[in-house]
Amino acid sequence: MTSDLTEVSVHTHFENLYGYEPTGVWSAPGRVNLIGEHTDYNDGFVLPFAINRRTFAAVALRTDTVCRVASSFEQTVHEIDLAGITRESVSDWAAYPFGVAWALQQVAGSENATGFDIFIDSDVPVGAGLSSSAAIECAVAVALNELWNLELDHRALARVGQHAENAIVGAPTGIMDQSASLLGETDHGVFLDCRSLEAEVVDLGFAREGLELLIIDTKVAHRHADGGYASRRAACELGAQTMGVAALRDLNADALPNATELLDPLTLARVRHVVTENQRVLETVAVLRTQGPRFIGELMHASHVSMRDDFEISVDELDTAVETAMRHGAIGARMTGGGFGGAAIALTPVEKISEVTLAVTAEFALLGYAKPDIFVVSAAPGAHREE
Ligand code: ADP
Ligand code: MG
Repeated sequence: MTSDLTEVSVHTHFENLYGYEPTGVWSAPGRVNLIGEHTDYNDGFVLPFAINRRTFAAVALRTDTVCRVASSFEQTVHEIDLAGITRESVSDWAAYPFGVAWALQQVAGSENATGFDIFIDSDVPVGAGLSSSAAIECAVAVALNELWNLELDHRALARVGQHAENAIVGAPTGIMDQSASLLGETDHGVFLDCRSLEAEVVDLGFAREGLELLIIDTKVAHRHADGGYASRRAACELGAQTMGVAALRDLNADALPNATELLDPLTLARVRHVVTENQRVLETVAVLRTQGPRFIGELMHASHVSMRDDFEISVDELDTAVETAMRHGAIGARMTGGGFGGAAIALTPVEKISEVTLAVTAEFALLGYAKPDIFVVSAAPGAHREE
């Protein structure tokens, strides 16, 4: 499905469903994290980029306070009164758009707010770690920001999306996904400081250098993800507390010998991942600026090894994807996302894409793993109005 098709179809679907024309169509991309895993909640650094898979939202305001949302994903039209949006009153995927409408009123007041009708279509894969949820939030956020004349900038809208996801959807997520979806640019990454929330775009140069990023979705559901995630967070908090810092962000590699004295072996390993991963993000940004993307492969692979051995959040399928991709021509590869399943990424020269794809597919078959879904993404523009 190309973006153009989605944009046209979302307009038509809106008309067919609601019986009148939408005021406009807005869109926002999913995202992938190039490097910087489990650093966000340690006040550290991440380097995601917006991808060329988008969610399109056809939107019109109403004169009353009724809010309706519908999606090509299902038949149901979800409806609620603007004043009645709470965590308990919304359900399902409608929590994302309704949550954004709620969060916008929290920051900008409700004087300009009226009801709306929305129809959504998307080619962001759901549950592959590409943040289909942030794509919905950000498409709706830019639409209502414009239609309600709120004049919030994209950084403020990123916080709105996060607030919606935390308070109304009920997911304790950081601000990375929304920042990438709102601030992304063609062939650029979004370098984000999760403490100051300062974001800077960084030229990736993939297109210029003939590189593409392969997503290898292992189709492994995030096994034990909840407990595993909570225990990793707890270890990071314990590590920071024992080392006498506000967050692991405040430690660099020089602190590791001291950490070896003070921490139990497991906490030390968790801390080492976060400390070295923050360093790798900074180095990746520096290398991109000085030498270019063909020189970030070692940092990507070191990130994977650190997640596999120190943070212990990889699974066999992810390790196989990474090592097979590297053997067959990828410059760098790593698991991406929270871990315990999900996708790996492989930065690959264009001429090696088919070899890597075939090799990973064959290796998975040989080992009796589920067939992976493998596709290329490129760094695309952030959320904007389409028509
Ligand atoms: P991710 O953001 O990594 O894709 P999440 O669990 O955060 O995974 O969000 C996925 C959820 O987003 C889906 O379960 C669904 O509720 C919702 N979703 C994503 N895309 C759409 C869509 N086009 N229409 C309706 N709901 C969607
Ligand atoms: Mg999500």
